[in-house]
Amino acid sequence: MSSSLRFEVVGEAFKKKAIGVPAPTERPSEFFGKYVFTRQKMYKYLPADVYEKMCDVIDNGASLDLKTADAVAAGMKKWAMELGVTHCTHWFQPLTEGTAEKHDAFVEHDGKGGMVEEFSGKQLIQQEPDASSFPNGGIRSTFEARGYSAWDPASPVFVIGDTLMIPTIFISYTGEALDYKAPLKKAIHAVDKAATDVCHYFYPDVKKVISNLGWEQEYFLVDEGLYATRPDLLMTGRTLMGHESAKNQQMDDHYFGSIPERVAEFMKDLEIQALELGIPCKTRHNEVAPNQFELAPIFEETNLAVDHNMLLMSLMKRIARKHGFRCLLHEKPFAGINGSGKHNNWSLATDTGILLHGPGRTPTDNLRFVTFIVETLMAVYRHNGLLKASIMSATNAHRLGGHEAPPAIISSFLGKQLSDILEHLENSTDDELIDVASKHGMKLDIPQIPELLIDNTDRNRTSPFAFTGNRFEFRAVGSQANCAAAMIVINAAMAEALINFKKRVDALLDKGVDKTKAILQVVREDIKTCKPIHFDGNGYSEEWQEEAKRRGLDTERSCPLVFDRYLDESSVNMFETTHVFNRNEIEARNEIKWETYTKKVQIEARIFGDMCMNHIIPVATRYQSALIDNVHKVQEVFPHEKSAKLNAKNIELIETISAHTSFIAENVEQMIENRKVANRIENVREKAIAYHDTVAPMLESIRYHVDKLELIVDDEIWPLPKYRELLFIR
Ligand code: ADP
Ligand code: MG
Repeated sequence: MSSSLRFEVVGEAFKKKAIGVPAPTERPSEFFGKYVFTRQKMYKYLPADVYEKMCDVIDNGASLDLKTADAVAAGMKKWAMELGVTHCTHWFQPLTEGTAEKHDAFVEHDGKGGMVEEFSGKQLIQQEPDASSFPNGGIRSTFEARGYSAWDPASPVFVIGDTLMIPTIFISYTGEALDYKAPLKKAIHAVDKAATDVCHYFYPDVKKVISNLGWEQEYFLVDEGLYATRPDLLMTGRTLMGHESAKNQQMDDHYFGSIPERVAEFMKDLEIQALELGIPCKTRHNEVAPNQFELAPIFEETNLAVDHNMLLMSLMKRIARKHGFRCLLHEKPFAGINGSGKHNNWSLATDTGILLHGPGRTPTDNLRFVTFIVETLMAVYRHNGLLKASIMSATNAHRLGGHEAPPAIISSFLGKQLSDILEHLENSTDDELIDVASKHGMKLDIPQIPELLIDNTDRNRTSPFAFTGNRFEFRAVGSQANCAAAMIVINAAMAEALINFKKRVDALLDKGVDKTKAILQVVREDIKTCKPIHFDGNGYSEEWQEEAKRRGLDTERSCPLVFDRYLDESSVNMFETTHVFNRNEIEARNEIKWETYTKKVQIEARIFGDMCMNHIIPVATRYQSALIDNVHKVQEVFPHEKSAKLNAKNIELIETISAHTSFIAENVEQMIENRKVANRIENVREKAIAYHDTVAPMLESIRYHVDKLELIVDDEIWPLPKYRELLFIR
């Protein structure tokens, strides 16, 4: 039996059934936002004064009274019931990395023994999910199990199936955040305020600064039938064993390759449903590794973009199953090939234009451009360790520093042109204002090919925080992470940098220094200060590790220790002055981070140990017995000298198998012992460190022997689908 037929492949069945996705009869522009209570729908379903009030709430953060909420709820109910909706839920983002919901039907007693459909403003605004089972890091002791979810009007409600989904924040009885969204909204507010104040030096009319996020979501697809036979994938989202396939990504033939038909069907289905839910999907392509793909929408305001990313991840998982796939969002599902990230393209914009866009036409535009660039660099420099902590997790740790993803050191790539501008500015006198051409055409001597507009930034894939023309691209974010974690830190850190900037400029203005000169002086100071964060070289190189250490950048790689950066005085201070977190919240969150780390490694170690003992060793021993049998039979048939010669190779193999199986058995036992020792540690941080130092490395060292056995043991009896089967969708 050929190895690929050992496992029933759902994909084959799927192909036979040919469940195609019918081409929609409408254009995307017609079905975009079909299931979202958009402004247009608000206009249609709400009384004029209520509509006006809601616009004020959404655009200007005006507060919402219960009477307006009741009127909004009535309009929403009408719209939702026309779509067949019967239930509603608050939809929130607890610290589990996923989303949570609790559905309530639209029904109430009518007082006459019957039922009536009811959805009030109070239900829209607030729910009290019993929150004792969500991670809280000790903020909410179990006797006070109340948590509140509160409507976020900035993210429109939407419909999935028969349920009206209401995006909400999730806080404790005492007002502390138990989710990602509450602190994100605070960070966005802080950066809006700080950046608007700084903008007024340049453009007095600016009313608001918006934080934008454009994420690019990478993911793997595997056949559902094969997935079901891998306990490691099922339980941990990654393969804990498996030898590299002879062919994987070395031919570079997958990246941007043509998309397999089955996958194309999945993508089409996904995009239609995402567009209907208001996610502005734009780009799709094959990624570097086999079976790896990417989806990117057009960027949006950060709060909404985060919600849309959470929604998309759940859509991906659901729709993949309809197509006989499982969608893997783990950062490193397969060893030896690329893992998945989620680039976070971040920028700030005013109500009229993007602040990181430049250089501009006028000296004012240029000064605004360098100010915002340099203060971003200051934010990243001051909090480089914290930014790394914001994207660090048990799963993303497998990807960072792996020569395929950004190194575990945060630095910023600026490209030649921007580097030149900063250098020029640092060394120029006050009167020489920066004057650089923005884009310049490049003539290509190829017939029929038009002149290309070359973006004034080059590309450097090894940089975790790269300037890419009008935004910074934070590339270290993990594929399954909630983008909010990174966005909270970058926006809060930027707010802090801008507040400090303004303080120093204002002090000079008070002394009577001319405004432009004052700004230039502070910018120049900061260019010098933040120099260590600027690195345009190869982030994967050994030298960079050394160089970064010399520059004082954070080079820690141990996940539990990286989390310490949240508790640095500079971090606590930054979060408190920007009103994003108080110390209590940060401490609670870190407890959750350490606990989550421990649990993830613990689950992996358990599953891995079971697989070694129940799958691998029995099969290796069975094959070894077959070899021993064969040796005996050869001895029976041939004279001693000849049989010794014929058996030599097999005896060697028998010994090799023994060596591997005993290593595995002994070390699995040791790993269990190490876990027991770690489990006795009370302190959550110390426990996580013990898991990191004494359990996690054993998964790797034992795996090496399992993977060697995979190469030796008869393919027919090997109990798990191999990488070559998992990774090539047919
Ligand atoms: P890459 O070459 O890195 O794959 P893409 O062009 O595919 O980049 O995706 C870039 C992402 O950046 C898209 O989601 C896009 O909407 C987003 N983006 C573009 N401009 C901005 C901006 N000013 N602010 C934030 N995101 C942006
Ligand atoms: Mg990118």
